[in-house]
Amino acid sequence: MDSKRTFDVAVIGSGPAGASAALKLAEKGISTVIIEKATLPRYKTCGGGFAFRGRREMPFDISPVVEKEFYRVDAYFDKIGIHKVSEREEPIISMVMRDDFDNFLVEKAKEAGITLLEDHKLKDITFGKESILHTSQGEVRCKFIIAADGALSPTAKIAGWKETRLLIPALEYEVEVNPEDFERLSQTVRLDFDAAPMGYGWCFPKKNHLSIGLASFRRVKIDFKKLYRDYMTDVLKITDPIHEELHGFQIPVTPRTDGCVRKNVFLVGDAAGFADPLTAEGISNAIFSGIMAADAIIESDLDQQKAEENYNHKLNTTLLPELKTGVRLSKLFYDNEMIRNFLMKRYGDRITEGMTQILMGERTYPKDIVKQVKKKLKQAIFS
Ligand SMILES: Cc1cc2nc3c(=O)[nH]c(=O)nc-3n(C[C@H](O)[C@H](O)[C@H](O)COP(=O)(O)OP(=O)(O)OC[C@H]3O[C@@H](n4cnc5c(N)ncnc54)[C@H](O)[C@@H]3O)c2cc1C
Repeated sequence: MDSKRTFDVAVIGSGPAGASAALKLAEKGISTVIIEKATLPRYKTCGGGFAFRGRREMPFDISPVVEKEFYRVDAYFDKIGIHKVSEREEPIISMVMRDDFDNFLVEKAKEAGITLLEDHKLKDITFGKESILHTSQGEVRCKFIIAADGALSPTAKIAGWKETRLLIPALEYEVEVNPEDFERLSQTVRLDFDAAPMGYGWCFPKKNHLSIGLASFRRVKIDFKKLYRDYMTDVLKITDPIHEELHGFQIPVTPRTDGCVRKNVFLVGDAAGFADPLTAEGISNAIFSGIMAADAIIESDLDQQKAEENYNHKLNTTLLPELKTGVRLSKLFYDNEMIRNFLMKRYGDRITEGMTQILMGERTYPKDIVKQVKKKLKQAIFS
């Protein structure tokens, strides 16, 4: 076996989860390879809105790949005439294009010593104390596998995971508009909660164009293209776009219920279902979980059982309880428009401030929030 093809850790996928895991491992001198099916930089369907809660934890300055920074976010609930504004002195959302952003992270990992195998598609795995990864360009051997291969995660399928995540459909267009429309729409990030049933529409300004999209948080039959047209003309008032490029994909907004480690495979990011259940913001948790899996392996001194225990412990004490609350809040918010509108009318300022604090990383979802909301609803009904 080619010793150059044997590593302690193989990371499948070079998105934010994979690149962050690889960087952390390489910094500790652990031999690490990233196996990526595409050639970098590669386009990734994404609004590219990076929340400050993720940015503030980055171990290096990402400003070279930030297209715009937004200190203000506007949320609209048109049917009830509500418009809420969040403002901070730090950028609540930093806009990135994922090809540049992801590539920047991988470059940092390469500087720290990882090996990158681009244009290598993982096809199969022979599992063992040392696993053999069969790729489109030969075999790679490793002790640990970090599956950072996104929403479709072929690695999770090969390792035997069943589908227990909720994958929601999302549509995104990269849109070039005339200078007047760009000037009008590029001053703020906007979220329109009545633009998509059980979801929202967004308009994220980039350097020279707008990323406009729609997501529904429930799997119902929706004519997304019609919704997009209506959103463009009726809400954003764009009537003559110069160029529109359509991309559609899925976002996993609930975590897997059958564990995140088996056969020395550690699931991170979208492969694990770690996007935020209320906002579908997935970049931050992809980074956090990638680092957590790397730390679990580092702290185990490359002991497979210990690493599995470490990762489970980390997830169970931090990310999973937060996501559990997020899933329950998402049900309250999206499943019943009447309840959502009632809550926004009555507690809109508090909800907006709470969500801003979460996006900023000033707090996480409070554990007892669902109980509190239900109590308030009962009081309102019986008063
Ligand atoms: C329309 C849309 C809009 C979104 N907007 C936002 C947003 O504004 N902000 C936000 O925070 N999140 C957003 N998200 C979510 C975000 O994009 C994801 O949560 C995030 O990319 C997850 O990162 P990841 O590293 O887990 O996986 P990914 O970024 O998906 O990376 C997976 C990598 O694995 C590689 N791969 C896949 N299969 C193989 C294989 N067989 N062999 C080798 N490599 C493979 C892929 O090529 C890819 O490079 C959006 C998602 C969608 C679909």
